Amino acid sequence: MSTSSAPGDLDAWRGLPALQQPEWDDPDELRAVAAELAGQPPLVFAGECDQLRDRLADVARGEAFVLQGGDCAETFSGSNADAVKNKLQTLLQMAVVLTYAASVPVVKIGRMAGQFAKPRSKPTEVRGDVELPAYRGDAVNGFDFDADSRRNDPSRLLKAYHCSAGTLNLCRAFTKGGYADLRQVHAWNQDFVAQSPAGRRYERLAGEIDRAMTFMKACGVNPDAFHEVEFYSSHEALLLEYERALTRIDSLSGLPYDVSAHFLWIGERTRQLDGAHVEFLRHIRNPIGVKLGPTTSADDALALIDRLNPHHEPGRLTFITRMGAGRIRDALPPLIDKVHRSGAPVAWICDPMHGNTFEAAGGYKTRRLDDVLDEVAGFFEVHRALGTHPGGIHIEFTGDDVTECVGGGHGLVEDDLHQRYETACDPRLNRGQSLDLAFMVAELYRK
Ligand code: PEP
Ligand code: MN
Repeated sequence: MSTSSAPGDLDAWRGLPALQQPEWDDPDELRAVAAELAGQPPLVFAGECDQLRDRLADVARGEAFVLQGGDCAETFSGSNADAVKNKLQTLLQMAVVLTYAASVPVVKIGRMAGQFAKPRSKPTEVRGDVELPAYRGDAVNGFDFDADSRRNDPSRLLKAYHCSAGTLNLCRAFTKGGYADLRQVHAWNQDFVAQSPAGRRYERLAGEIDRAMTFMKACGVNPDAFHEVEFYSSHEALLLEYERALTRIDSLSGLPYDVSAHFLWIGERTRQLDGAHVEFLRHIRNPIGVKLGPTTSADDALALIDRLNPHHEPGRLTFITRMGAGRIRDALPPLIDKVHRSGAPVAWICDPMHGNTFEAAGGYKTRRLDDVLDEVAGFFEVHRALGTHPGGIHIEFTGDDVTECVGGGHGLVEDDLHQRYETACDPRLNRGQSLDLAFMVAELYRK
């Protein structure tokens, strides 16, 4: 089934209200940057996006599970080999835990190689008696709190493109070039095992996988899937000029694909039915997602389906719910129930991060791992009660040993947050906390 788009459709969003767009200093420079982006090579290919859509159709049918994660906000300085490798390694470790312990195929999607723009609740930030424009992600302005850094600079869009290209290139090399080979399950854990309860738990599981692999090899079974990994990129499609400039007509099918990432999602703040974001994403052929917060009504969800997946194409549309641990058990059932009864195929993913943020004493924005776990548990309970499929998790994490969320094997408490609080936006799970979460999700899945 295909969606036919008229040539003008890709620009119809320009006539609609577009929330969360930066006011660029120099519109001429923005036009020049968009033209330059439009001439750059694609970061992803249409065929890869189609393949991910097939994988997400498996998820919607209940036959696979999505693991989507990465930084809240990627940064240019964080787009280096070590940081990218640590993130990817943690994602692979989580995926191995889920695949092995829950016996389910895991669709691996990085919140990586493009997550450089952030929606903000306030347009400015005040410190003492200084008020400056809010930080909107490295694609727009700088994190440092001074007037020059906070200037909305269109040339940053080009840098975001190049950092995305570098990051994706590394991810492709790691996942296809032998590093993600299942015989490396121990190696991914080497610098981690002794220091952490999650690392030790992982090591035991890696040992079991090793034995299973040796057994299969002895039996003559050695499929390609053991030696490389399918990895997909994703980010919030927030800056419409950027996404539009990177949208191309696929030469084989004649259909438009946003080649900035395999999977794009619309955030909770920009999912208005008559808004520019929904209008733009309606016309691209990539698999897409929409974040749904606790105020979403079942009719809102149906209307979004009507707009974004009118032909009920499996794998096309994923709902990423972010209700909060205290609300998920009440807010989610009516949505799932009505959508399910409509017959629309939807992959349901749980983002247990964004509904559980609070400010700790000392002013740090944080999350409790217990709340994150509780929201995931609620997500499973609701789906199990309704007979639908809990299709995956969407998390903010890093492979580094940061202290941004509280709880987990090391028992991080609020007083520890100052030690390595490094995020440019929301607090991320560190590597141990991410593995703790993966083990728990695998247990929930098996039940
Ligand atoms: C995010 O994913 O970082 C984000 C801003 O989420 P949401 O749109 O769900 O608030
Ligand atoms: Mn976030």
